[in-house]
Amino acid sequence: MRFEKYCQPTTTSECVSLLKTYGSEARMVAGGTDLVPKLKSRAVRVKAVIGLEKIAEAKQIIINEKGLELGALVTLRTVSKSSEIKAKWPALSEAAGHVSSDQIRNIATIGGNVCNASPSADALQGLIVYDAIVNIVGENGTRKVPIVEFFVGPGKTVLEGGEFVISFTVPTPKENSGATYKKFALRGDTDISIVGVGSNIALDADGKVASAIISFAAVAPTPIRSTEAESLIMGKQLTDELIDEAAELIGNNCSPITDHRATKEYRVEMIKVWAKNALKDALARTK
Ligand SMILES: Cc1cc2nc3c(=O)[nH]c(=O)nc-3n(C[C@H](O)[C@H](O)[C@H](O)COP(=O)(O)OP(=O)(O)OC[C@H]3O[C@@H](n4cnc5c(N)ncnc54)[C@H](O)[C@@H]3O)c2cc1C
Repeated sequence: MRFEKYCQPTTTSECVSLLKTYGSEARMVAGGTDLVPKLKSRAVRVKAVIGLEKIAEAKQIIINEKGLELGALVTLRTVSKSSEIKAKWPALSEAAGHVSSDQIRNIATIGGNVCNASPSADALQGLIVYDAIVNIVGENGTRKVPIVEFFVGPGKTVLEGGEFVISFTVPTPKENSGATYKKFALRGDTDISIVGVGSNIALDADGKVASAIISFAAVAPTPIRSTEAESLIMGKQLTDELIDEAAELIGNNCSPITDHRATKEYRVEMIKVWAKNALKDALARTK
């Protein structure tokens, strides 16, 4: 693993200025669980590595009536173990808790999981189910991007040169809502997902679906939502029959790939099974 310089900015403006100076010859590092193996294998070659660990603002967790302001450098262990996050945003806590092992979660960060932009990433699904906003710092200040629009391809995001992610804004869950994230992998959490499904359902006073988010990991080139299934269940009682119908629609409309973990056909079947599980679980949690 060779690079000429390791920089440790302490402020956001110092970080932006370093990113501008080095351009494509620099990479940022947070926990390093994705980046360091790539540097070691020389899959990534850079002149400078910019460590984000001294930017205090990116480590903050602020909870108020509007929601949660989650710093990009907060570790997945903290996200999964925080009793306040678990109580209000259980699916975020679950999604972070499904990333690999204690050893990885102790150093991996929520910002690294999002910016690595792997289609199979688990923790970022916990942000999608709550419709979080990504707060991006650059030369011209901060811009905000809805999380589902942040990903443009495997490993590719809307981040431009000189920009980095400082935090995520996660809204307070709606009244009478429930959410969950389910990971299906052959060897449990230490394995990469064959499929991951997030679901967030809010009911109106008549018990009908008032809002719905159904999101998927490992079934497309980016993390995705099934807007067709979300529209199908809107305004209706979420019966077992409707859940079956939604799961069929999701399975028929997705086109996952065959890889060494699972065939396309197996993935489609598992998407249906885990979509049902996630919808039933989210419904059971509405309160
Ligand atoms: C053994 C092993 C098992 C794993 N299992 C899983 C798993 O089950 N599920 C899963 O989802 N992931 C898994 N991962 C992947 C990884 O641990 C996570 O994606 C982790 O959250 C990455 O966070 P990090 O802080 O280590 O990122 P880093 O490696 O530091 O960074 C990742 C990328 O994001 C960029 N970056 C980091 N922070 C920022 C920022 N704030 N702004 C802009 N760019 C930034 C970096 O430049 C780099 O390109 C696994 C990794 C390993 C090594």
